[in-house]
Amino acid sequence: MTTLIDPVCGMHVSESDLRVAGYEEFAFCAEGCRRAFIADPDRYVRAAAGAGEAPAPDHGGHDDHGVR
Ligand SMILES: [Zn+2]
Repeated sequence: MTTLIDPVCGMHVSESDLRVAGYEEFAFCAEGCRRAFIADPDRYVRAAAGAGEAPAPDHGGHDDHGVR
């Protein structure tokens, strides 16, 4: 049985739960999370892709702060 991540709240949900067409890699624990995702899909897709990974490449690093 496949478990998917709810990108809105981070819960693990089963494949048979709420889905959004076009985003087959995600599932949702509740209609409220599904609606939140539909309202702003890009935000949650980006957050899900970046979870647990290194900071975004466009992070300038501490040199930009003038701290030594
Ligand atoms: Zn949820």
